[in-house]
Amino acid sequence: MSSSIKKPLLILDLDETLIHAVGMPLECRHDFRVGHYYVYKRPHVDSFLATVSTAFQLAVWSSSTPDYVATVVTQLFKDDGQLQFCWGRDRCTPRYHPEWQSSYWIKDLKKVKRAGYDLDRVLIVDDTPRKLERNYGNAVYVRPFAGDQDDEELQYLAPYLLSLAAFPNMRRIEKRNWGLRSL
Ligand SMILES: [Mg+2]
Repeated sequence: MSSSIKKPLLILDLDETLIHAVGMPLECRHDFRVGHYYVYKRPHVDSFLATVSTAFQLAVWSSSTPDYVATVVTQLFKDDGQLQFCWGRDRCTPRYHPEWQSSYWIKDLKKVKRAGYDLDRVLIVDDTPRKLERNYGNAVYVRPFAGDQDDEELQYLAPYLLSLAAFPNMRRIEKRNWGLRSL
């Protein structure tokens, strides 16, 4: 890719995408604590972040509280100054599902567009499709991580994301079935 072309933006979710945090410890050793949570990094997360940062600008967007997000990010990113932004629940939009009678948060990329990014060049990785219901064209879904130390999702995800980075409009590429490679 020519250095004159700006790197696309990759927005990463935290819980069940890059980490798993629980109140009761799992059998394996935790990586760090945040408040009363035991936090487990998804296997290969460090090499994943190093790899994708070569081709993308990085950002984090989680629907957890801003304090929690800031603490996790400090642990995951050696230099959190490399992030374009680090957003929490306060940037999410509440939605109500009448049939389930429950509320949930969505991440509306309109806010990313307003911050000056061209959405043709934005990908967002999340384990919960519902959170991206307004922007499925930008979404790359991962299987939720619940602490499995043999999990390989990120090892496969990194080269897949790199393969998308050069496309002028990443929204036009069918991305829903990328994970079929290992089923
Ligand atoms: Mg998640």
